[in-house]
Amino acid sequence: MVAGEVPSSFDAYKRKKFFKDARHYYWDEPYLYKRGPYSIYRRCIAEEDVQGVLENCHGSAYGRHFATFKTANKVLQSGLWWPTLFKDAASFIAKCDPCQRKGGITKRDEMPLNPILEVEIFDVWGIYFMGPFKPSSNGHNYILVVVDNVSKWIEAIPCPACDAKVVIKLFRTIIFTRYGIRRVVISDGGSHFINKVFEKLMKNYGVKHKVATDVLAFCMSFGAYGMKGERKDLVHGRSSTGYAKEEGGSHLEDQLDHPVEFLNSTGQASTRSS
Ligand SMILES: [Zn+2]
Repeated sequence: MVAGEVPSSFDAYKRKKFFKDARHYYWDEPYLYKRGPYSIYRRCIAEEDVQGVLENCHGSAYGRHFATFKTANKVLQSGLWWPTLFKDAASFIAKCDPCQRKGGITKRDEMPLNPILEVEIFDVWGIYFMGPFKPSSNGHNYILVVVDNVSKWIEAIPCPACDAKVVIKLFRTIIFTRYGIRRVVISDGGSHFINKVFEKLMKNYGVKHKVATDVLAFCMSFGAYGMKGERKDLVHGRSSTGYAKEEGGSHLEDQLDHPVEFLNSTGQASTRSS
């Protein structure tokens, strides 16, 4: 085009096409320009410069590793053009090391956002009957243990039998009055917990009653842990329950009336092993 000659290898069709295409090009020593849409002239660049231009328009701080279309647009905005611009940009990005490492992170790759269940202190209680033990002088041979799931606060009351009456009395007189209406009570599903009266009480107060088989382990471990002494500030029970009476008795069965001491003496073994 610069020499004003047509390559001799061109046939009639190719000659026609060549002259038609040539209308869009403009030679301004020493550069060749192409007229694009809106009559914008863009400089055509040599093949060996392609990689450098793409590096600048994609990999540099100016390029910021955008995708094919945006990278090609950056090249066009810089006033440069070559016939295989989009194709070269795509293959350049496919080989770009940082892009391969990062990958195309889309919304689909996001980890699902799980709502965090917020459990406040005294919201969840684990409840369990311990026993039967050898009856104390007051006729108590069970201990009803209620452990708060968060703080591991323990309420324990000695009782002569493991029935719904004791459970309901504990919730009415201690748990609900002292700690307010809570959200969930977890029991081991024993018949003293699964009955109409208890269910009605829970329903009236809007408390969920759940059954978990490992509630024993839970109560025992935290009960024993609480008794160990590290959490003695949290251990309650004893006469605060209103059930146990102060009584001087050093026998194990008599300690049943003071469940905290009793748990302390029986829970030692399991505490040490853990
Ligand atoms: Zn990249």
